[in-house]
Amino acid sequence: MPDLWVKHCGISHTGSFKDLGMTVLVSQVNRLRSAPLNRPIAGVGCASTGDTSAALSAYCAAAGIPAIVFLPTDRISLAQLVQPIANGATVLSLDTDFDGCMRLIREVTAELPIYLANSLNSLRLEGQKTAAIEILQQFDWEVPDWIIVPGGNLGNIYAFYKGFEMCRELELVDRVPRLVCAQAANANPLYLYYKSGWADFKPMVAADTFASAIQIGDPVSIDRAVFALKATDGIVEEATEEELMDAMSLADRTGMFACPHTGVALAALFKLRERGVIKTNDRTIVVSTAHGLKFSQSKVAYHSKEIANMACQYANPPVNVKANFGAVMDVLKKKLDGKLCL
Ligand SMILES: *Cc1c(COP(=O)(O)O)cnc(C)c1O
Repeated sequence: MPDLWVKHCGISHTGSFKDLGMTVLVSQVNRLRSAPLNRPIAGVGCASTGDTSAALSAYCAAAGIPAIVFLPTDRISLAQLVQPIANGATVLSLDTDFDGCMRLIREVTAELPIYLANSLNSLRLEGQKTAAIEILQQFDWEVPDWIIVPGGNLGNIYAFYKGFEMCRELELVDRVPRLVCAQAANANPLYLYYKSGWADFKPMVAADTFASAIQIGDPVSIDRAVFALKATDGIVEEATEEELMDAMSLADRTGMFACPHTGVALAALFKLRERGVIKTNDRTIVVSTAHGLKFSQSKVAYHSKEIANMACQYANPPVNVKANFGAVMDVLKKKLDGKLCL
């Protein structure tokens, strides 16, 4: 039996694992702004591929702190766009990609008293690393062999390393798992760097991917990610659009409702299993990073076979039937052919 587990981090307040780090960051900003410190912080800002801004806006709204979010126009899901809008954040929709938003927010926060909440901020990483500790606890401190995490800006792959390494230092465990960072082939600067034997890092312009939360060409935490991968004998794998959508849809057939990023991680798993890198009996944890409901648009496109150059082999479109008994019976008999005992 394969020893395969999916750690669902998307069942959280705003529907992605970004909540883990953002609670820590916003709590600290709240402390800084309050007596006795009374720091003149006017608000908290971030550039986002959707989930970071959702988490920031929710916790800032709860704390009464203004949130300012920079989002790339048309590159995030509708659900992710409406989250900060509903929570009352100042939402700037910018005609650029995530990397462009990131450059702008860094310039702006250098001029204005806005606290920068992107994951180069170590408070975020301190919160994100709790997922690693929780995994170990859930396995009774038995260390899994592999952890597969989808990566974009690459703060999280490092955060997982930090969590595992902390537990090793505290002697709760005696080793750390091997990390796999899974990237979309359309946004794969880390993968190419890995393939070059860590010789040559080139930032890129990321192409569109259904895994929109990791559509990043110039990851802020590149050095930390490389450190984490080297320290854990890690691997970087990539997934094409078809591979990630198929993997996501196959997972859904088991009762999950995975997001496309989880699809990237699952596709990486399939490839590594096929190549024999991950053995059947290796205990492997795939990190599911967001709730599938945030990405229903792409799921609908897949199941309607509306995606150009994609076979959508697991598509399950609804059947349009006339609302009369005969028509319904015809469809069901055909569908259940041989499985009906009439
Ligand atoms: C942020 C995010 C990731 C990747 O995390 P990074 O730290 O940017 O590498 C993966 N999946 C989802 C859903 C995310 O929101």
